[in-house]
Amino acid sequence: MRRELFDDEHDLFRASFRQFVGKELVPHVERWEQEGVVDREAFTKAGASGFLGTDVPEGYGGGGVADFRYNVVISEELQSAGAAGAGLGMTLHNDICIPYFLSLTNVEQKERWLPGICSGELITAIAMTEPGIGSDLASMSTSALRDGDDYVVNGSKTFITNGINADLVITAVKTDPSQKHRGMSLLILERGMHGFERGRNLEKVGMHSQDTAELFFTDVRVPVANRLGDEGEGFGYLVRNLAQERLSIAAAGVAAARAALDWTLEYAKERQAFGQPIGSFQNSRFELATMATEVEVGQAFVDRCVRALNDGELTVEEAAMAKWWCTELQGRVIDAGVQLHGGYGYMTEYPIARAYADARFMWNDGATTEIMKEIIGRGLGV
Ligand SMILES: Cc1cc2nc3c(=O)[nH]c(=O)nc-3n(C[C@H](O)[C@H](O)[C@H](O)COP(=O)(O)OP(=O)(O)OC[C@H]3O[C@@H](n4cnc5c(N)ncnc54)[C@H](O)[C@@H]3O)c2cc1C
Repeated sequence: MRRELFDDEHDLFRASFRQFVGKELVPHVERWEQEGVVDREAFTKAGASGFLGTDVPEGYGGGGVADFRYNVVISEELQSAGAAGAGLGMTLHNDICIPYFLSLTNVEQKERWLPGICSGELITAIAMTEPGIGSDLASMSTSALRDGDDYVVNGSKTFITNGINADLVITAVKTDPSQKHRGMSLLILERGMHGFERGRNLEKVGMHSQDTAELFFTDVRVPVANRLGDEGEGFGYLVRNLAQERLSIAAAGVAAARAALDWTLEYAKERQAFGQPIGSFQNSRFELATMATEVEVGQAFVDRCVRALNDGELTVEEAAMAKWWCTELQGRVIDAGVQLHGGYGYMTEYPIARAYADARFMWNDGATTEIMKEIIGRGLGV
């Protein structure tokens, strides 16, 4: 089906990013998968080529175009190149963290941070989850108590994407621990602050190139000048930004499913059994037909959501629908693809195998399927 989402400029951007991925990311993926982290140079090279902060004003070193379709192009190309784990940090930086730095910073903060964020010298992360809480975010306990011109931060976070590489961590803290939602604020914790330590780079089932780490804070003095927006408004800011975060995950989910379909189709045409291509068995055709149908259906919804986001109309419920359905679609399509690959589908030299391991966490990324359904259900008035 012809997609109507993109214009010529997006196609040119896609060609250029595809070349970048082939030259600067794909040759290193195997090593990064072993090392559990991508080289920081991946970010600075992406920044130098204009692939970070496409929506940041040019005066701060960005591309100056607020159009989420560029973010979607990046996500799709990473998935089709089999570089989902290697690229996750970059899409988190662009799609999820930069909006906070754009919408909640004053001029002094913009000047301090945005140029480095766009050049890739300052890598970003967002830290909400704690060892004791994930879904129930308002019950988090990392505290930030005011002392003169500083906050004194104590607590810990876990599962933080870019946790090892990050220079600037958007950290959800309780500035009023006696309150739940109303006690939350967002502070930027910076690499090198005294008392800010990184824990383990966590061992995961998939997404091995992606550093996912624990962070520990012991009496970290964070200047008030590092607060994003107003004190006590952190929960509202998180909710406001979650629609884009969830759409970013949904777009990656459909792109991953499409990549799996393409790999499987190619394999099913080549691989022979009983004297014929395995794709010609009726069961294989039905499986491939189901995969292709679901990918098209998911794509149509995601494309509509992207337009709605660009127009400022995407609701939290629509983003939640896209997120849970497209990531579970990703799981179904990749699982069927693995089956059609036979034993080779379990070998990591085949991209479908790595995609299988990478996919499972997407159901929980940016909150779980169950929480998405809670949000949608509440929107339905039940
Ligand atoms: C690879 C990876 C990267 C991540 N990156 C980040 C990151 O960069 N920053 C960050 O802050 N976090 C990150 N996370 C954390 C992620 O957002 C959480 O894992 C997720 O929100 C779920 O929280 P939890 O793991 O504490 O599960 P829990 O909240 O303990 O949930 C456990 C189960 O209970 C269910 N459940 C909980 N509440 C309800 C309810 N009300 N109704 C029905 N079911 C419910 C959940 O759906 C789930 O099935 C990452 C996680 C992973 C695995």
